[in-house]
Amino acid sequence: MLPKRGKSLHSDSGMKNFYLLKITGNPFTPRTLAGASTPTKGIQLASPWQILAGNLAVVALFVLGWAHARYWLRATPKRYRVILFGLTMGIGTIATMSMAISFDQGVFFDLRSSLLVVTAFFGGLPAALITTAIALAYRILLGGAGIYGGTASIVVASLLGLGIRHFSRSRQIGAVHLCVLGLAAAFSTIVAKTMLPGGLAATSLTMTSLQMLPLNFLATALAGLVHVQARRLGAERDLLAAAMAQTPDYTYVKDRRGRYAAVNVAVAKACGFDDPADMIGRTDAAIQTRERALALHERERKVLTSGESLLDHVEEIPGHGWFSSSTVPLRNSAGEVIGIAGVTRDVTLDRKLQQELIQSRDTLSFALQEMSDGLAMFDKHGRLVFSNAQYRQSFPLSGNIRQPGVHMKEILRSVVESGEQLTVPERNTASWVNKITGNLRVESEEVVSLYDGRWLQIRTRPASTGATLVVVTDVTRIKHAELALHSATDELKELVRTDSLTGLLNRRAFDDTIENEIRRSSRSSAPLSLLLIDVDRFKPYNDHYGHQAGDAALRRVAEILKASLKRPADVAARYGGEEFAAVLPDTDEDGAYLVAEAFRRALAEMRIDHRTSERGYLTASIGVATYMPEAGQRSSAELIQVADEALYSAKAAGRDRVFGKRVASSPERFAKAI
Ligand code: GH3
Ligand code: MG
Ligand code: MG
Repeated sequence: MLPKRGKSLHSDSGMKNFYLLKITGNPFTPRTLAGASTPTKGIQLASPWQILAGNLAVVALFVLGWAHARYWLRATPKRYRVILFGLTMGIGTIATMSMAISFDQGVFFDLRSSLLVVTAFFGGLPAALITTAIALAYRILLGGAGIYGGTASIVVASLLGLGIRHFSRSRQIGAVHLCVLGLAAAFSTIVAKTMLPGGLAATSLTMTSLQMLPLNFLATALAGLVHVQARRLGAERDLLAAAMAQTPDYTYVKDRRGRYAAVNVAVAKACGFDDPADMIGRTDAAIQTRERALALHERERKVLTSGESLLDHVEEIPGHGWFSSSTVPLRNSAGEVIGIAGVTRDVTLDRKLQQELIQSRDTLSFALQEMSDGLAMFDKHGRLVFSNAQYRQSFPLSGNIRQPGVHMKEILRSVVESGEQLTVPERNTASWVNKITGNLRVESEEVVSLYDGRWLQIRTRPASTGATLVVVTDVTRIKHAELALHSATDELKELVRTDSLTGLLNRRAFDDTIENEIRRSSRSSAPLSLLLIDVDRFKPYNDHYGHQAGDAALRRVAEILKASLKRPADVAARYGGEEFAAVLPDTDEDGAYLVAEAFRRALAEMRIDHRTSERGYLTASIGVATYMPEAGQRSSAELIQVADEALYSAKAAGRDRVFGKRVASSPERFAKAI
């Protein structure tokens, strides 16, 4: 039971029922409430320290109470919060004043300034006005000798708080601010005391300086500190709560018994709740289907008993899609598992993309395996990235080394060592290896022949990424067909140039040959001779022996002519009908004469029966024309014409003879008749 303040003990106050303690005389001596005049048995007056401790407790109670209330009121609009702050602190000032150290004349000592300064500083003008108004009203109600000082101290404390707030607006609140607030509270207390009448002022100032000022300072600084901490913690909690609530993933915390302790908006919505708070305390059994609840329970039980996290567990929830969940155990400071935290992410889109990727990879791999060509990809450094089976099978001796990661140079060295490719040069293989590796960087195409008779076409196609695709096609059949075509073409060309009856070059081939030889001999100033041969009296031969015998005879003449030409460069041709020609490069007139004469004699010596001729056997007349080295301008027409003239002369001279003529350079005619 606490003593009540009585009218007889209090001169200026009509207030009742306050825990007001009065001090007269030495303020440091504990007194009974009634003092010497009316002793009250059994009731002890508290010492000023105890009263001040009580006052401090009131300040602490209100400040801490507000710190808690502030968090619960976080959703309340700021202007209401400020009003509530002002009201709470106002009530606090009443509480401190009702627990004041009181003097007979109505002078009170308490820690109201602490609350006023702190309210003005943290709550601003609206809160300061409310608190100040309440404090003033109450102080005026108390009355007494200290009324002016008391009311002044209230106003000064609030003004100082507002002033400090104004000057430290943009700065972060620190120890300096708290000290300044403490000093402001102490100062406003002194203000109150200086306004007291003479003797009382002296006594109360001593009291104030010794006890009230440090305590006021301390109470204010501590109250400020609690405010600052409450604000900071509140901001941190807000940030964490916002982070959890607003993350798009499903985030939740459960206790050991599977009850939700916290969920974010996404979880609440997914479970059909408007407010995450409605899910708190519930278990999955009350929210999910039985099957799903059991599955979740089983998974969480594992985490709780093993104490190990279960990360990235992907599962399909029919009708909703694919989800990846991570469940981690939560431990207290003693290391005991006290619950679990879970994060579930919707990975339906990832999963879909993944499946599409797998599908397209399978399709690509199918295409690569089924295609007939070998396909390989090399990276920009020349290392094999991938290849299909056909690629490796295309190279029987180096296929096993053609594996991902192997460099092109290693592959080529294996090709060289194994002798797999016939197109590899025998010498300087290192530069060949470098050249082929360099080809990876350019678009190239090459056909190589392998030791087993196959031909491969190897095409390189560099991509913009720096990688290169190599396509290997077996072109053996095409190559064989090509070779066959080449030989057929060659044969055809040969046929086109060959006289079918005699097997010698035909007229067209002769024309080409003589043109070429004219040009060649002109360049090298070499001698060139031409023999024009005409079988004598062949018309009568045909007439007498028949056309077929005539053909046979022409074949014999051709054979003899061929046999008469000893040098590889000499060319025999059928000029037309029973006329033949022989082109003799690098042969002067003497040489040509010798060849012509040898032929003439060889034919004559055959003694091919020709009764209707002068000699009785088959003979031929030969005209020889020669360009000697000094001959300048040369032409096939001229050479042929001169040879023809010589032939004509041989015929005219009696046949079976050789007539020769040097073209242009010398008109001298040499004729050696037999
Ligand atoms: P000359 O001594 O003046 O050359 O008398 P010649 O009979 O040979 O004269 P000419 O050049 O007029 O006669 C050529 C004859 O050669 C005409 C033709 O009966 C014969 N002849 C030409 N080409 C062929 C051939 O391919 N086969 C056969 N059997 N006879 C041919
Ligand atoms: Mg003729
Ligand atoms: Mg003839």
